[in-house]
Amino acid sequence: MAKKDLDWGNLGFAYHVTDKRYVSMYQNGAWDEGALISDDKIVMSEDAGVLQYSQSVFEGLKAYTTENGHIVCFRPDLNASRMADSARRLEMPAFPEDRFVEAVRQTVAANADWVPPYGSGATLYIRPYMFGISPVIGVKPADDYMFRIFVTPVGPYFKGGAKPIVVRISDFDRAAPRGTGHIKAGLNYAMSLHAIVDAHNQGFAENIYLDPGTRTKIEETGGANILFVDRDGVLVIPSSTSILPSITRRSLHYVAENYLGMKVVEREVTLKEVEDGNFVECGLCGTAAVISPIGKINDHGREICFESGMEEMGPVMQKLYDTLTGIQMGRLEAPEGWICRIM
Ligand SMILES: *Cc1c(COP(=O)(O)O)cnc(C)c1O
Repeated sequence: MAKKDLDWGNLGFAYHVTDKRYVSMYQNGAWDEGALISDDKIVMSEDAGVLQYSQSVFEGLKAYTTENGHIVCFRPDLNASRMADSARRLEMPAFPEDRFVEAVRQTVAANADWVPPYGSGATLYIRPYMFGISPVIGVKPADDYMFRIFVTPVGPYFKGGAKPIVVRISDFDRAAPRGTGHIKAGLNYAMSLHAIVDAHNQGFAENIYLDPGTRTKIEETGGANILFVDRDGVLVIPSSTSILPSITRRSLHYVAENYLGMKVVEREVTLKEVEDGNFVECGLCGTAAVISPIGKINDHGREICFESGMEEMGPVMQKLYDTLTGIQMGRLEAPEGWICRIM
């Protein structure tokens, strides 16, 4: 075994074909025993359920090397249960949660040479996913499913410090009321592609989506939850039934209360409150960046500027970021069960 000869610190967020991937098939009403394979290509019917009616769900997590040289991943049991929830909402058979965690371990261990070294800032991104593979022409769930996991090394999210971004309030919605916003399905991303390309063309890093029912409340961006800090230093987390339950956000909630002694409130947050200047810091959170600071929100030409400014992350977001990444990297003691050691 030898580490791959990659320029770890300068990897972007791109797909590399790595050595092994995990595959399990669901056929005749049961999952097979699964295996690690070398072939990165999939052969399927031209009429596979995923190709016709987008029956697919996915997950995203990372493996990385800790300060003392172990390869670990972060709370994979939560990805397992979230993927099972996603699958059930799309009438797919859930992949057993204990087997999910074991498959993540096996896939990372088989690709250990691709796990970036400690201190590089790079990580091994893990992508579990499953989809309907048998032919479907009438509108109904597929009979057969494929569950897979591949891994790919990705570079540091921020090169040279986390710079605040400018985001806009989107005129598009990402989720219907009582729809699929709360599950991790590719279909939610397909419909956000036009909105994100348009946002980038207008010079914005992301779209903030409002609640689809009334368009008065803050939901999230296309792929990250939103956090606010109010004038009393309280961490305020928007709640809604169509927000995807981010594992990073749930972890930050715990860290804020239990490591930093902060007050945390999860509640509906209106756009009006944000415009009234009730919040001093704002950030996005997700596996990729942990926290990405927002400097400004543009609402149809009207700018909402946070006091933390456009130069650096605000002090509360920075503390949350340092504490969670400290736990992940093994510099701070983790709550029971958060760090899953692979090697
Ligand atoms: C994956 C995802 C997130 C972030 O979730 P994490 O578990 O923290 O990575 C947030 N919003 C959406 C829509 C997502 O798909």
